[in-house]
Amino acid sequence: MTRAGTLSLPLVRALRASEGRCYRHCDQGVRARTAATPLPGVFQVLACPSGVVSVAMYSEWSRRDASRSVAAFLRTRTRPASLVRATDLRLATRHGPELGPRAERLLERDPRRRPVRVVYWRVYPFQDAKGVDQRLFVCHRRAHTSPLFYAAPSEGGERACPGCAARAPRSSGARRRTAPQRARPS
Ligand SMILES: [Zn+2]
Ligand SMILES: [Zn+2]
Repeated sequence: MTRAGTLSLPLVRALRASEGRCYRHCDQGVRARTAATPLPGVFQVLACPSGVVSVAMYSEWSRRDASRSVAAFLRTRTRPASLVRATDLRLATRHGPELGPRAERLLERDPRRRPVRVVYWRVYPFQDAKGVDQRLFVCHRRAHTSPLFYAAPSEGGERACPGCAARAPRSSGARRRTAPQRARPS
């Protein structure tokens, strides 16, 4: 038995985020990446190779509005947590026809007649107190629990992850962190 709200595989496929171009940051494409959450549905982050987030989205097969649960989850994964504002979350309801024939059949057969509900989180570029353009970045590195969201200047923001900075020695700067060496008995 699956948890309430869990998406079956055809629905996950139907909801696979379309991968466009990075929004007003670079000319690279964005890639969708699925990240673990304690919620029953599927959480995806669309970001360009530098880590600038186009949108993060959470999909669930249910009638409920998961916005508050999604916001609570995002706050645990965002530095500072105040970057997550209720006004930047948008709820959409997806019905069968727009998700393709396989998903449509599944939704039609569902005795509970549930749609798929999607919560989108989009943070538009903004200026900090000094007038510097800031964007939402995501880091998926293993130095910390993935994903970790943070705001940083458009240029060089991929090196500013607060989670990686907290773990890595200062001198190593932007270098990729390697796995810790296990102490060997000498
Ligand atoms: Zn970009
Ligand atoms: Zn990081």
